[in-house]
Order: sequence, then C-alpha cells, then structure tokens
Amino acid sequence: MKVDVAVIGAGPGGSMAAKAAAESGLDVVLLEKRQEIGEPIRCAEGVSIRSELRDLIKVQPDWIAAEVNGVRMHSPNNDNVSMTVDRKGEGGGYILERKNFDRGLALQAADSGAKVLVKTRAMGLIRKEGIWMISAICQGEHLQIVAPLIIGADGVESKVARWAEMGARLKPEDIMVCAQYLVLDDCIDQEYCQFFFGNKTAPGGYVWIFPKGGRLANVGIGLQGSQSIPGEPLMLLDRFMHSRMPRAKILQMVAGGIPTSGLMNNTTSDGIMLVGDAAHQSDPLTGGGIINAIRAGVMAGETAGKAVSSGDVSTAALNEYEDRWRSSIGKQIKRRYRAKNFFLKLTDDDLNHLIGSLHGKDVSSMNTRGLLSVLFKQNPKLLWRLGVSNLIERL
Ligand SMILES: Cc1cc2nc3c(=O)[nH]c(=O)nc-3n(C[C@H](O)[C@H](O)[C@H](O)COP(=O)(O)OP(=O)(O)OC[C@H]3O[C@@H](n4cnc5c(N)ncnc54)[C@H](O)[C@@H]3O)c2cc1C
Repeated sequence: MKVDVAVIGAGPGGSMAAKAAAESGLDVVLLEKRQEIGEPIRCAEGVSIRSELRDLIKVQPDWIAAEVNGVRMHSPNNDNVSMTVDRKGEGGGYILERKNFDRGLALQAADSGAKVLVKTRAMGLIRKEGIWMISAICQGEHLQIVAPLIIGADGVESKVARWAEMGARLKPEDIMVCAQYLVLDDCIDQEYCQFFFGNKTAPGGYVWIFPKGGRLANVGIGLQGSQSIPGEPLMLLDRFMHSRMPRAKILQMVAGGIPTSGLMNNTTSDGIMLVGDAAHQSDPLTGGGIINAIRAGVMAGETAGKAVSSGDVSTAALNEYEDRWRSSIGKQIKRRYRAKNFFLKLTDDDLNHLIGSLHGKDVSSMNTRGLLSVLFKQNPKLLWRLGVSNLIERL
C-alpha cells in the first residue's frame, strides 16, 4: 500500500492527526492494532474543563458519561475540601465514555477521507531512499505500507519512537503506574471527582473516584513508578476499596502507565512525528493526556499537509510541528513538571495543612498558579521551605 501519511495508533492523538492530514488533501492510512477502536479502555476518562474539549471539537452526546461540578480533595487525616470548578462560566468537567469517544474521533478521520485499518499492528519500520516502509500484520496477513511520512501515535509504550531511534525509553520516575476498577456502588457522589492523597494511600500519587453516572465510577490509583513495586498499585487499590467502598461491585479492571517525564528532546525526525503519549505530552502532575494528544494530533496533521505537499518531510520541514506544540502545550507541560516535583516533596503533614487551608476559599475559576498563590498566602512558612515562591514565579 502506498500513501502520503501512515498514522500508527488510533487513540485521540492518532485519529485527530489522521483527520487533519486527510482534510489537507493527503492520502492517509490510520493503523490500529486492536480489533475495536476504544477497547479495552485504559483511562479514567476525565476531562477537567469542559470548554477545553469543546474548543477543539464538536462534542457528541454519546461521548459523555457524566458532567461533574468540581473536585473534592481528601487529605491523609481524612479532612476534605470540595471545590467547584467554573472556568469560562461553563461548569466543571466531563467524564467521557472513551469507547464511544475514541471511536467517534476515528469516524471523523474516516469521514475526512482517511483509510482506517483495525486489527492491524505495525511490526517495524525501515527507511530507504527517503521513504519509510512499515511492515504490519493486517488481520493475520502481512502488509507493507510505503509512505514518505509517519505519525507515531502509538501510546505510552511507543515502538515507533524506538524503531526511529528517538530515545524515548521512560525511567521509572518518569511513569505513573496505574490500576483502576469500574465499580457499581450506592455511595458514589456523582457531583465531584474525588482525589485521596497520602503516603499510605498512594505514595507519590493519589487515588481517584471519577463518577460515570447512575451508580458507576472509575476508581483508580496512580503511583510514581520509582516509588512502587510490581503489584503495589492493585494491592493499594484493593486496600482502599476495602476501607472506603466495601460493598462496591467490580465490573472491570485495567492497568496501565502514563508518561510524566516532562518534555521529550525530539518529537520529529526525517519523515517522522510523534504525538500524544508517544511524545510524552501528558500532564506530568495529573497524568491527564487526552486534551494534549488531541491538540498535538491536529498540529502534526496540519504540518504533514504542508510538508508532504511541498515534497519536503525533512526534520527541518517538520520543525513547524515541534515549534507549535512546544510553544503551547509544551510550556504547560514544563510548568506541570515543576509542580509534580514540588508535590513529590510533600509529607502527609504538609498535605494535611495545605488541603485544610483551602476551607472556605473560592478557587472555582483559578488555574494552578492561582491555587498555589492562595496556598502560599495560607501557608507561607511551609511553602517557602519547599521553594514554592520560586515555583509560582515560574508558573
Ligand atoms: C489508568 C489510566 C487513567 C487515565 N486517566 C486519564 C484521565 O482521566 N484523563 C486524561 O486526560 N488522561 C488519562 N489517562 C491518559 C490518557 O489515557 C492518555 O494520555 C491518552 O489516551 C493518550 O492518547 P494517545 O492517542 O496518545 O494514545 P492512546 O490513547 O494510548 O492510543 C494509542 C493507540 O495506539 C495503538 N497502538 C499501539 N501500538 C500499535 C501498533 N504497533 N500498531 C498499531 N496500533 C498500535 C493502541 O492500541 C492505541 O489504540 C489515563 C491513563 C491511564 C493508563
């Protein structure tokens, strides 16, 4: 098969890249190793600010499992504070139905003219005379795809990055290791996303409860990879379920990793761009990566349009993508990486003080910087010790 662009991986990043490239008139193929796009889900499905998604794409009703008004944070000493989030006056966040969402994005790519191949796994790449050759297994048959340009959107375990020798191996401290249950329970508060902190509950991370409507919720845990041993996320999640939601019925279990490394050195090479988790573009503090994958996917697809049409897919030509994402989402990733390193220094006492000090404060329309400023005013000694004044200036 000969195409202008081959996109490997039909998650949000890959589908949006394929859509944007096809819209600019290119012949595009989108490869997905799984037989059903969007399944199995490896995500808590949260988008914290509705307008961020709406600004990028027309949101379809069947993509949304629930709408939440804000977050509730629980400190290690069992105190909690609820905060409504109302950026741009649009209310809080969405909990997506990612199965429908991922499929919906792939459908839009197909509608724009991209060819979608499911149950098609890329197995390797070689470059000859300026052209990439991908060997793939498509529904059991060998398939060779020839393309001047490849977009690697193959997620956290990206092989494309490794095949193209783009130095993408993640160290344990640069991964959030996660386990999650989809649960049915009567006691789920459907209004808030909840976060539970503490070094006994989730060392270097947190437990989340994201309500999915009805009596359903995603209940999961994310731990800093370097502070966790194999099996620990599930063991701690089971402990949490036992103490907080003893009657919950578990309907599904997922495990997975999220890159929290901050910026990757290069996400482009001759004839290659990486997007989304493959490019480590998820938020290093929260682990959220859906919005950034979509943004980067659009930028990569648009750059592909220009590069292929002009017959120049060199690293220099693809720099437009590198520059665009670094000057937008890249800046945010850099700030969040600093915030993550601050968070990792907190003891349980620090967390108790910080969360307690938010009682009665209206933080509904604040961003991270605003929230840290409020915390700093309430806890100057503690946050001075942790170097937060410095951090706020750089946020
Ligand atoms: C437990 C957990 C909870 C999370 N919760 C949230 C959350 O609440 N909010 C949020 O914003 N983010 C969350 N994330 C992160 C989010 O899921 C990712 O950042 C996001 O999916 C990245 O999109 P992507 O398109 O880059 O990659 P992915 O969505 O991972 O898609 C990659 C695709 O590539 C395919 N693929 C891989 N290799 C090949 C191959 N060789 N050939 C063909 N296809 C291939 C895969 O099958 C997959 O479909 C969570 C992650 C985990 C693990």
